[in-house]
Amino acid sequence: MKDPTFKINPKFRLTTKHLSVVWHCIDKYTVECEATMEIPDRFIYQDKTGIELIVQYHTVIMDIVYHDSTNFETKKVQKWLRELMRDIMLRIAKRVLPARVKYWENMKGLHGSGVTVKRLRKNVLGYCTFNNHIALQPFLVIFKQDWMDGVILHEMAHYKYKHHRKSFWDFLSMLIGEDSKMVKVKDNIAMSPYYNYYLYLTKNK
Ligand SMILES: [Zn+2]
Repeated sequence: MKDPTFKINPKFRLTTKHLSVVWHCIDKYTVECEATMEIPDRFIYQDKTGIELIVQYHTVIMDIVYHDSTNFETKKVQKWLRELMRDIMLRIAKRVLPARVKYWENMKGLHGSGVTVKRLRKNVLGYCTFNNHIALQPFLVIFKQDWMDGVILHEMAHYKYKHHRKSFWDFLSMLIGEDSKMVKVKDNIAMSPYYNYYLYLTKNK
């Protein structure tokens, strides 16, 4: 798998239903003033030259305020932004994904024993345990609704069949109303432009 080459800087675009990143360049003095205000969900990045970044999070928007001389090239600033974005996505996912599972459970009259949203191994989008407990990857919230639903319905089909044999795919086809073998959620996600973001945000160093 190739390593993403981009950095999180003002060229970074993320515009999705559940989270959008909005960049604001203002003068350093105003950045310093704003940083003195204590506001919930405001995160400040500071180095020896002063305040470099302010991130303000509210529901679906992550405002990132910087100034002309903010340096986005350092490992430290990238790590800070990456971890913050990861935390915010996890918060969003914990609100959005279990609610979506509940929605589909009610629609399909098919009930499991609960949902956990947590970081899973890189190529795992979700899984279902033997006790019908679903675990989902938080990054599903930045992909298309159809794909998020595709992963959820796949895991819900495991409530009934704990394997990937024909009876499983037939049942899933019935749930989604089309041939489940033709729906390649994992491939779609891997080819989506946001997949690189997902790889970058999940890397540890
Ligand atoms: Zn499966």
